[in-house]
Amino acid sequence: MADRYDILIIGSGPGGYQAAIRAAQYGARVGVIEDREIGGVCLNRGCIPTKALLETVRVQELCGKAGDFGISVGEVSLDTGAIFERKDRVVEQLRKGVETLFKRNGIEFIPGRGSVDATTVEVNGDDGTRQIRADAVFIATGSVPVRPGIFPYDGERVATSEAFLSMGEIPQRVLIVGAGYIGCEIGSVLRAFGAEVTVVEMLDRVLPAGDGDVSKQVAKRMKKAGFDLRLETKVESMEATDAGVSATLDSDETVTADKALIAVGRGPNTEGLNLEAIGLETDERGFVPADSHGRTAVDGVYAVGDVTGRIQLAHLAAKQGLAAAAAATGHEYYIDERVVPACVFSPPEVGAVGLTEAEARDQDREVSTAQFPYKALGKALCREETDGFFKIVADADSGEVLGVHIVGDNAADIIGEAAMAMQLECTVEEIAHTIHSHPTLYEGLAECAERWLGLGIHG
Ligand SMILES: Cc1cc2nc3c(=O)[nH]c(=O)nc-3n(C[C@H](O)[C@H](O)[C@H](O)COP(=O)(O)OP(=O)(O)OC[C@H]3O[C@@H](n4cnc5c(N)ncnc54)[C@H](O)[C@@H]3O)c2cc1C
Repeated sequence: MADRYDILIIGSGPGGYQAAIRAAQYGARVGVIEDREIGGVCLNRGCIPTKALLETVRVQELCGKAGDFGISVGEVSLDTGAIFERKDRVVEQLRKGVETLFKRNGIEFIPGRGSVDATTVEVNGDDGTRQIRADAVFIATGSVPVRPGIFPYDGERVATSEAFLSMGEIPQRVLIVGAGYIGCEIGSVLRAFGAEVTVVEMLDRVLPAGDGDVSKQVAKRMKKAGFDLRLETKVESMEATDAGVSATLDSDETVTADKALIAVGRGPNTEGLNLEAIGLETDERGFVPADSHGRTAVDGVYAVGDVTGRIQLAHLAAKQGLAAAAAATGHEYYIDERVVPACVFSPPEVGAVGLTEAEARDQDREVSTAQFPYKALGKALCREETDGFFKIVADADSGEVLGVHIVGDNAADIIGEAAMAMQLECTVEEIAHTIHSHPTLYEGLAECAERWLGLGIHG
């Protein structure tokens, strides 16, 4: 391990590791300090393990409707051990991939917990404490679940997403507090694997950050799948009991369950970083303010990813990492934070980019919207996946696309076209005039655009 680097990065999540690779490609000598597994939350306890489990749910659903396709599969049964082992294998393979990329790019992985002072980064690892100097330091330490005091966390009966992603067996009854995407995705896994799932959300809809019509569709599917949804309801108190947990709601009802998943948001992971020592102030929520290229108020210190308090998504963290690596090494990088696609992978899938209808209307402009249903798509019918819709939110006068929201089969992939259209500042008319192949699911976007123009063909 060297005593000096051009760039030292604290945290190896998508923000940190991609910044490291890009900076190394630009010729910088880079070290990455990490106190847990390489790859951060996304790879080890976030995006990838949840999606690996949700793919099992997808296969399970396919087996369930195999009869509709004329295939007999007999009784479908689940092997929880094998399901979680497969998830671990996927994670392990990707982790090895990042390790290989580090080696190939000459990046040094420095295990331990980092903290900063005026000129150096201190690393506390198994071999003791070391001071390392660097010309630039990147704070890429990500986020951790917020832990409101009313929940008696013990990591067993009352826990956050991490514990649920490595559980050995499926609890019979689960109470989920928070109907954001983490609550919905993990809830969908648990429900599909046989748990009775109650979701308590204090706002009036599931996925409260998304478009209202999408939330309704997702809630409809969740209810059909047997979720007990308690919206506009708050947990007033929770107790860990011998049998599990017991929660009192503000509706005066009591919900008992074997386990509770608390998924009420994520805050900055800055504990012990010693940011005060370098005069780096955090905002009122504790996040580290940085511009789109990661520059903080302190020269030579960059911050990228969840720790900056922007939308907490892996692909935004990664892009910020690339932008910051360019800025720190004197290169150009273009990043447009207006266009950040967001996806939810629980059945039904959701893909969204840009403004929701409500946000667009709040902007004091004439807004026009159109929807197109999956059931009018030949491909959706072929796949027996006809629930859901495409929705375009656009400026009524200019046709500028302000937002696109898709809920249904493969929405998370299809939204990519809408993101590209917005990045290129396409109008709705230009989407409509783009020839889309048939029969596909993504032709729903062009059909929706035609509808927006008042010229819909199908549906
Ligand atoms: C259950 C779940 C599902 C998710 N699913 C998705 C999804 O499908 N798509 C998506 O885009 N996003 C998803 N996310 C969000 C995504 O994981 C984060 O946005 C992303 O990981 C942020 O990346 P990051 O680089 O900012 O930091 P992180 O991935 O949080 O990594 C930070 C790393 O820094 C380390 N660290 C922190 N402090 C120190 C220190 N002082 N010294 C050394 N190391 C330190 C941490 O241990 C961690 O490994 C999900 C999150 C969760 C929890």
